[in-house]
Amino acid sequence: MNFDLTDEQKMVQEMAKNFAEKEIAPYVDQDEENHYYRREILSKMGELGLLGWSIPEEYGGNGMGWMEAVLALYEIAKVHTSWRLSISGNCWGPAMTINQYGTPEQKEKYIPKLVSGEHVGSFAITEANSGSDVASMKTFAEDKGDHYLMNGSKMWISGGHVSDVGLVYAVTEKGAGHKGLSCFIVDYNNTPGITRIPIHTKVGMWTAPTSELVFENAVIPKENLLGPLNKGFIICMWQLNNTRMGCATGAASLSAACLEGAVQYANERTQFGKPIGKYQMIQAQLAEMKLEDEAAKFLVYHAAYLKDKGLPNQQATSIAKLFGCQAAVHAANMAMKIYGSYGYSTEYPCGRWLRDAKQFETLEGTSNMHMQIISNIELGYQPNR
Ligand SMILES: Cc1cc2nc3c(=O)[nH]c(=O)nc-3n(C[C@H](O)[C@H](O)[C@H](O)COP(=O)(O)OP(=O)(O)OC[C@H]3O[C@@H](n4cnc5c(N)ncnc54)[C@H](O)[C@@H]3O)c2cc1C
Repeated sequence: MNFDLTDEQKMVQEMAKNFAEKEIAPYVDQDEENHYYRREILSKMGELGLLGWSIPEEYGGNGMGWMEAVLALYEIAKVHTSWRLSISGNCWGPAMTINQYGTPEQKEKYIPKLVSGEHVGSFAITEANSGSDVASMKTFAEDKGDHYLMNGSKMWISGGHVSDVGLVYAVTEKGAGHKGLSCFIVDYNNTPGITRIPIHTKVGMWTAPTSELVFENAVIPKENLLGPLNKGFIICMWQLNNTRMGCATGAASLSAACLEGAVQYANERTQFGKPIGKYQMIQAQLAEMKLEDEAAKFLVYHAAYLKDKGLPNQQATSIAKLFGCQAAVHAANMAMKIYGSYGYSTEYPCGRWLRDAKQFETLEGTSNMHMQIISNIELGYQPNR
């Protein structure tokens, strides 16, 4: 593994940094306060190619892979974690999964608009009573001959009520457990029978919309089945191994934001006649943050490297995600301590960092689930795909 970034990778990094500073940073406080999803940011991300990683150029992809993607996502999420979700929601979720499992018609119809940001994407797995145990989902897509009739509901879906097109996983064979799930492409603008309810009670991620979706006799055309019938569980696990890189990178990036903020504050804040950064206990706290921050970043790079090489990466992805979320939560907690009372004030970002960091422990597989994946692979109980 080469630790030097190529000129192209440095350019991508710089471009994403400039974009985040110019197009996202000016709105962070205002949009956080209003819990506002600024749709035009997604369009601008699309225009710049920030939604087209590992997607063939014939479908609008940017011709670049995982390493470039994580470098860009890292810069965006450092400015505002909520916006990391758009890369998963548009590119790594629906676009990449359609590219892997879709028919030529599905690829042509859906990928270009997801990649350009013309469409908002999403993926819906979780239900009120089915979280970590994906195979226990109840949403049912009944084969009606020339279409499927979908009934049920999904919960906690990122971008759900603003989404134009999304993947929805549903049961197609009752009683078959994980062998009875399928994946569907759902066109939210043209499918009657779907009610989308925004969730307003989230602790963090306030500018990233989250929703409940209710399907009542929603007619899903036969041609919207993605991949083989009853192979939805395999597709879902494949997709999660991609989309959870959004969590891993976002977490590493949030940890870096907390560290940068804490270092600046420690240099500026004076107590007992000296900047607080001169005190050993503050230095120890910053050293711990730095250790974890560096490790989180390189674990993300390692997983991205394996993905770009087409090598087994499931364990590396879970390690990056699990370690990253621990680093982010720890760093956010430390930052708030170092900022003292100002950390507890909404005038500083510590509260947002802490609220946003906690999401990483749950999304895209809880920390317990990632410990299970890591150890199952280590023990030889499951292959490292
Ligand atoms: C802001 C936000 C955005 C989200 N976006 C999406 C989205 O876009 N699409 C989507 O489909 N979902 C989404 N989710 C849902 C998220 O992926 C689920 O919440 C997650 O998979 C966990 O499911 P759960 O909340 O039902 O927890 P549960 O599965 O009920 O787990 C509860 C606790 O039990 C533990 N646990 C469960 N089973 C075991 C076990 N076997 N061994 C040990 N511990 C166990 C878990 O680790 C956790 O601590 C989102 C959630 C949030 C909060």
